[in-house]
Amino acid sequence: MIKPRLRQQLAELTAIPSIACTMPEQDMSNVPVIETLANWFESAGFGCEIMPVAPGKANLIAVRAGTDPQARGGLVLAGHSDTVPFDQNLWHNDPFKMTERDGKLYGLGMADMKGFFALILDAVANYAKTPFRAPLIVIATCDEETSMAGARALMEQSKGQGRFVLIGEPTNLKPARLHKGVMLERVVITGKSGHSSDPELGRNAIDAMHEVVNRLQQFRTSLKKIQQPLFPVPYPTLNLGCIHGGDNPNRICGLCELQFDVRPLPGMEIENIRADIRHLLKGIEQQFGVSMLYEPATAGSGAAETPANSPFVQKIEGLLGETAGAVSFGTEAPYFRAQNMDTVILGPGNIEQAHQPDEYLEIKNISPMLLLLNQLIHYYCVQGHAKI
Ligand SMILES: [Zn+2]
Repeated sequence: MIKPRLRQQLAELTAIPSIACTMPEQDMSNVPVIETLANWFESAGFGCEIMPVAPGKANLIAVRAGTDPQARGGLVLAGHSDTVPFDQNLWHNDPFKMTERDGKLYGLGMADMKGFFALILDAVANYAKTPFRAPLIVIATCDEETSMAGARALMEQSKGQGRFVLIGEPTNLKPARLHKGVMLERVVITGKSGHSSDPELGRNAIDAMHEVVNRLQQFRTSLKKIQQPLFPVPYPTLNLGCIHGGDNPNRICGLCELQFDVRPLPGMEIENIRADIRHLLKGIEQQFGVSMLYEPATAGSGAAETPANSPFVQKIEGLLGETAGAVSFGTEAPYFRAQNMDTVILGPGNIEQAHQPDEYLEIKNISPMLLLLNQLIHYYCVQGHAKI
C-alpha cells in the first residue's frame, strides 16, 4: 500500500517533463520540477534555495536546520531532477502519466530518479514535530544525464554540503560505494556530397564513419582486459549511442555524426582515455579524404569510491545486513567526494529499467526504502550523529 499523498506526488513528478539531452532540440528546462519540489519541501518545514545553473536549468537545495544552527555536517539526500529522452512508440503507456500495472508504477523518471524525492517527503513527514540536532539537506540537481552541470555548480560554489550523502539512484535497494565514470563523446565527419551515380564526385562520410565504428569496437574489446571484480560489469564499457548522417539514398553522404559513451573504472583518468581514442582514430581522414572532429560532447565525470571503512558505509551496511558493492553507472558522487563527503548510492528503482521504454518502480521496494530513510533521518538528524 502506498499512501495517497505519496502516490499523488509520484504522479505529479512524472507528469512534469524534465528531459536533458545533448541534442539541443530535445533538451528541456528542469525548473518546473525544481519549483514543484521547492513548494513541497517548504511546506515540510525546509528552507529552500533555487540555485540557477544555466538558462532554464536550476538546482534545489532544501535544508531543515538542526537545533544548533552553527553545527555543520548533516545528512544529505541527493538526486537528479532530469530524465533521459524516451522512445514514444516503444512505451505501452504515456511516459508522463504514472500508470500502475502488476505491482509496478510506470512512468519516465520513476526509477531514475525523480520518484526518490516523493519518498523523501513521505519519510520527513514522520519528523514534522521532531527537532533535529543535525541538519537534513535535500539536493535536486539538473543535467545529471548530460553534463553533470548541476553537481559541478554545487561543488564550485561549495553549496549543499553535509557530512554524509545518500544518492537515490536506482540500485534495487542495494548499497554501493563505488562506481565508474562516464564520458559522453562525439565524432563528426565532414565529407563531400555528390550524385550517387559516381562515387568519385564526393567523399562519403558514412564510409569513413564505418571505419570509426570498427576501431571503436576494437577499442571496446581491449577495454575488457581491464577488470575490477567488485563491479557486476567488471570492465570499462563503450556504447555506440546515436548516429546521424546523410539525407537521401541517391546522394553521397556529406556529413555524419556519432555519439558514444565510455564508462571508466575508478583509477582510470578521463584525459588518458581521450588521448587513446584520439590516437586510435588517426589516419581515417587521409584514408577517406574527409575531415574529422573528435571531442567530448560534455566534460564527463570521473569514477568515485568511498572507502569501505567509512562510518556512513558501515552504518548503512549494518542497517541492511548487506555489504556495499559497486554499480556500473556514473552518478554525481565524485562531486560530493571532492567536497570530502562520504557517499553511498542506494535507491528503490532498478537500473535495468532506467533509460528504457516502460520504466517502472516496483511498489514492493517503496516500504523498505522508506524504512531506511526513516532510520537514517532518525540516527543522523534527530540523534545528531552527522554533526561535526
Ligand atoms: Zn540517474
